[in-house]
Amino acid sequence: MFFTRGAGAHLVDVEGRHYIDFCQSFGPLILGHADQDVAQAVRLAIEDGWSFGACEPYSLELAEWMCSRLPWVDRIRFVSSGTEAVMSALRIARAATGRSQILKFEGCYHGHADAMLVQAGSGLATGRIAASSAGVPDGILADTLVVPLDDASALDRVFDEHGATMAAVILEPLPANYGLLPQRSEWLHGVINHCRTAGSLVIFDEVISGFRVGRGGMAEEFGVRPDLVTYGKVIGGGFPVAAYAGRADLMDHVAPVGPVYQAGTLSANPVGMRAGLAIVEKMDRLDGWRALNDRAAQFCSRLSTAFTDVRASIDIVSHASIFWPRVASSQPVRRVDQIHEHQRAWYAKFFHAALRRGVYLPPAAFEVCFLSMAHDDDILRSAVDLLADAAEEAGTP
Ligand code: PMP
Repeated sequence: MFFTRGAGAHLVDVEGRHYIDFCQSFGPLILGHADQDVAQAVRLAIEDGWSFGACEPYSLELAEWMCSRLPWVDRIRFVSSGTEAVMSALRIARAATGRSQILKFEGCYHGHADAMLVQAGSGLATGRIAASSAGVPDGILADTLVVPLDDASALDRVFDEHGATMAAVILEPLPANYGLLPQRSEWLHGVINHCRTAGSLVIFDEVISGFRVGRGGMAEEFGVRPDLVTYGKVIGGGFPVAAYAGRADLMDHVAPVGPVYQAGTLSANPVGMRAGLAIVEKMDRLDGWRALNDRAAQFCSRLSTAFTDVRASIDIVSHASIFWPRVASSQPVRRVDQIHEHQRAWYAKFFHAALRRGVYLPPAAFEVCFLSMAHDDDILRSAVDLLADAAEEAGTP
C-alpha cells in the first residue's frame, strides 16, 4: 500500500481513502501523525540548518533529560537507528568483558546487524526466515547463542556451558517482535541473576518499549538496572534517532574517551534531536503515558468483549499502549512455539477485512499494534465496532 499523508490517528492512501492507523510507523508516533508541536520543532530546526557535523546544544538537552530521569543512564550516545544502537552496545560489552559470545532469545528482534539475525522476529518471522538471513557468514553467527524465552532449564544449561565466555545477554524486556509475548518477572530476574553470577552484562533492548510503555520503559517496570540499554522509535519522535546508554564505566569505553570506535555522519543531527525533545517533553507535560495507557486498557477491554460477542476466539494481548490480536489459547503464550499455528492464516483474513472497513493494522501477523495520543474516544469506539465486524468476517481461526 502507498500512503500520501498521515494526520493524527489516520493515514490517507494514494487514492484518498482514510484509515484509522494502528501501526503508527511501527511504534515511534506516540503523539500520532504530524503532531503540531513536533512539526513546529522540526520547522524551526530546519530554518537553522539541519546538520552541523559538530556539537549542538539539543543533543545535550535530550541527553540531560534522559540522564536525570533514568537512574541506569549515566551516559548516552545518539545514533540513527535501533540497529546501530544494538551493534554499538554489543561492541562495548565485548570490549569491556574481553569475551565474545552474546546470548539472545528466540523471537526477539534486535535490528539487522549480522550477528543478531538468528531466530529473530519482526520481518524475519513474517517472511518465514526462521534460522537466519541469507548473506550472514556462519563465522559471525558462531558467537551468537540462542535459547527460547521463558525456559529456565535451557537458560541454566546455556550458562553452565557458556557463562564464562558470554559477554552479554541481550533481550527485549517486553518481547514485541513475534507478536507480544509479555514475560514473567521471575524469569526475567532469573536471567539477570545468571548474568551477575557469570559476569555477563545485561543489555535491555528498549527500542520499542522505551518511552512507549512509560517514561522509564520496562527497566522501571521491572525495577531493574540494566548495564546497557538501547532506545529508538519514540525517542526520535518519528525521525531517525536512536541511542545506546548505560553505566559510566561501560560507556567510557567509547571513543574518544575509550578505545571502542563508533561514529555516524548524521547522528545527533539537530532536526532529530529537536523532534525527540518535543515528543518527550510533551508527553511529560501532558502526563501522557498515564492517560494513554488508561485509554488503551479501556479500548482493549472493549475490543475483547466485542470479539466475544461475535464469537471470535481471539485474545487481545496488551501492555500499556501496545496490543496484539492473537488466536486464542488456553495457556499463557510467552514463547514462539506456543503461538497458535493458525495465527498467520487468520491474521491475513482479519487484516484485509479490517482494511476494507477503513482500519489499517500492521501488515504482518507477528507485528504488534500501537495506540497514540491522537486515538481519541470517538475514534476508538468506532474502531471497536469495525474490528469486531472484521473479526466476524475473518471467521474461525
Ligand atoms: N530492537 C528492537 C526491539 C526493535 O523492535 C527494532 C526495530 N523494530 C530494532 C531493534 C531495530 O531498529 P531499527 O529498525 O531502527 O534499526
